[in-house]
Amino acid sequence: MKLDLHRINADLHAHSTVSDGTMTPRALVERAHAQGVELFALTDHDEVAGLHEAALAAAELGLDFVPGVEISVTWSGQTVHIVGIGIDAGNAALIEGLAHVRSGRMRRAQAMADALAAAGHPGALEGALAYAGNVDLVSRTHFARWLVETGACDDVREVFTKYLVAGKPGYVPHQWAELRQAVAWIAGAGGVAIVAHPGRYKFGDDELRALLAEFRDAGGLAVEVSTSNHTAQQTRKFAKLAREFELEASRGSDFHSPNESQVELGRVQALPDALVPVWRRFV
Ligand code: AMP
Ligand code: MN
Ligand code: MN
Ligand code: MN
Repeated sequence: MKLDLHRINADLHAHSTVSDGTMTPRALVERAHAQGVELFALTDHDEVAGLHEAALAAAELGLDFVPGVEISVTWSGQTVHIVGIGIDAGNAALIEGLAHVRSGRMRRAQAMADALAAAGHPGALEGALAYAGNVDLVSRTHFARWLVETGACDDVREVFTKYLVAGKPGYVPHQWAELRQAVAWIAGAGGVAIVAHPGRYKFGDDELRALLAEFRDAGGLAVEVSTSNHTAQQTRKFAKLAREFELEASRGSDFHSPNESQVELGRVQALPDALVPVWRRFV
């Protein structure tokens, strides 16, 4: 492992077929290795079932691997994602908590399908489920892939803009985990909690600060500063906030698919200087 912590090619956020990625855990690990990633975390949504296969594949390749998860949370009326890395995937409270978070997905999917049918797109549930490697994790991404297949939109990004976000016809609000609960599950499983892609949330600055304060107060330790959906300006903004809140900083591509992700595994911008890389704990 290289001594310069900042220069290590750490990619601590990615998805496999266990949630809404298109590559199996093994294929994803092989791709990360081939792309030059030196420290890799698999962080499927609300599920740890891919970690064993990923860890085995990483061990075979000599790639340093960190077990992870990305938990769906509802905070102040919005969905916020909390990544946990370095977790013990066998921790009973974490496993039980994640099962509870997953449990509402099929009901939401049915409601989304009903809403899409009313908007002129019948058959969406069957369509989405055909894309879901794991039906318990049926996600908006699977609906988006099906709507691209039917020709309703040109790509997944367009489907989200036109159908699957608040105010659009296929959007169904949902209650995920509590912020404090998600952080407690991660910490209780020996992991480090990280606010994922903070630039994605539609919070004003005061609410954003309140989120980071509550997160840190709950035992959260880091914020994802370098992520594929941050502009350079957002990266600077969250670097500043990380320092202000004395949070460590993470870097992750949030890779889902070679066909959909704009940023390749390991290619997201480096962490700005003067931040504490959260991966110091794992090297
Ligand atoms: P869900 O957990 O079912 O609500 O789906 C959330 C997932 O949808 C995220 O993890 C992303 O993979 C994807 N997603 C959310 N917003 C967008 C967007 N604007 N463009 C493309 N994918 C998105
Ligand atoms: Mn996703
Ligand atoms: Mn996310
Ligand atoms: Mn993600």
